[in-house]
Amino acid sequence: MALKLFNTLSRSVREFTPLDPAGKKVGLYCCGPTVYDYAHIGNWRTFVFADLVRRALEFSGYEVQHVMNITDVEDKIIKRVREQKTTLPEFTGKFEAAFLDDLKALGCREPHQKPRATAHIAEIIALIEKLVARGVAYQAADGSVYFSIEKYRGCGCCYGQLLKLNLDEMRAGERVASDEYEKESVADFALWKAYGSEDGEVAWDSPWGKGRPGWHIECSAMSIKALGETFDLHLGGEDLKFPHHEDEIAQSEGATGKPFVKFWLHGAHLLVEGKKMSKSLGNFFTLRDLQAKGFTGREVRFLLLSSHYRETFNFTFDGLAGARTSLARIDECLAKLRELSGGGGGDANSGLLGAFQTALEEDLNISAAWAAVFEWVRETNKRIAENSLSRPDAAAALAGWEKVDSVLGIGVVTEAEVPAEISALAEARTTAKKAKDFKRADALRDDLKSQGWLIEDTAKGPKLKKH
Ligand code: AMP
Ligand code: ZN
Repeated sequence: MALKLFNTLSRSVREFTPLDPAGKKVGLYCCGPTVYDYAHIGNWRTFVFADLVRRALEFSGYEVQHVMNITDVEDKIIKRVREQKTTLPEFTGKFEAAFLDDLKALGCREPHQKPRATAHIAEIIALIEKLVARGVAYQAADGSVYFSIEKYRGCGCCYGQLLKLNLDEMRAGERVASDEYEKESVADFALWKAYGSEDGEVAWDSPWGKGRPGWHIECSAMSIKALGETFDLHLGGEDLKFPHHEDEIAQSEGATGKPFVKFWLHGAHLLVEGKKMSKSLGNFFTLRDLQAKGFTGREVRFLLLSSHYRETFNFTFDGLAGARTSLARIDECLAKLRELSGGGGGDANSGLLGAFQTALEEDLNISAAWAAVFEWVRETNKRIAENSLSRPDAAAALAGWEKVDSVLGIGVVTEAEVPAEISALAEARTTAKKAKDFKRADALRDDLKSQGWLIEDTAKGPKLKKH
């Protein structure tokens, strides 16, 4: 069986085969966060999708090199650094650390490389120099260096590989200095932005004078450095197709003369209760906002993984409550299986695994994958109730589940998900019990219960459980 994925380049579902002649190694680059604020749940939908792609590739036996950059210099960041009268590293460092904490809380595997744009200024300059030398970039009167779409197309290259752009009808030839712009204003875009006083302390020397890189060239330089001039997979949210990814292709292919990426994958957007997320509508949530409402990263992950990556996902609080119920069903079944298996290992039972793999390989058909999981839960519960599941059966079922969960990443409740104040209350209760202060111990148990946590005294000590 082979993994099939929707390639935005061909606009069709195609069998994935890596560039590696040995068919083993896969390079995957996903545009990372712009660290100017806490990532919101829309961003998280895209990063959880990238984690799913990586895990699916690993499940299929590939050795993945997963790269996710940190955009730590671009227009929005500079604006906030100026407004908040702080320095770039101080400002971005805080949000980068928060991002990595949230990534962990959502059960995402850590990317193997997390390059920062500010640590790649030399590579960025070298790439722009190549583009200038090849005649597809020029320094304009404003001091900035721009990519020339006309010159690029004149070399027989195609601008508009991801989106069908009718360049003849568009206002080509104009220049845009900002990192984000609309399709209607397709134009020469900035590779190197000449210094302006609004940039404050954020500037580097270059052959074109003091300035800073444009956002698009950052990703070209970092991905080429990490994965080579041509690599397997490039991911991002659908909004990045234009101009960001289109510009990345133009810069990279314009500089190297080689195809940049074999497979482009784009995740659809997330809406909240049917509307575009916005602070003014009061429907804007970060992971931290949801955690403050008592939800866990695991529950949010489950919800974000519940629909196909190419379908717009409607986030609702009912959906999040449903995620909690569904996880409880899985947990209950797993707990019974663990008890029955007596902790022994076994060979993976192929029933669940086969159905799950078939679904996954069909362009990550997650709905069919979950259907296989819940059918398995139902069947397993039935067999347990009928006493027809032997110890080796239970061990084999668990081994099969573990393989499935190597992709879903929801099976384990990590310690990190118990909030610090809850752990502190549990510890205080243990201390009270040791001191035979049972009144206080009971009061602490009640306190925990009122906050949604049950405490169970087991042979290995007290255990916290969400209720
Ligand atoms: P940014 O930090 O703004 O560069 O965005 C990080 C990632 O989140 C990009 O891949 C975006 O495409 C993606 N993204 C932004 N908004 C949403 C949304 N509402 N739903 C899904 N992905 C999004
Ligand atoms: Zn990018």
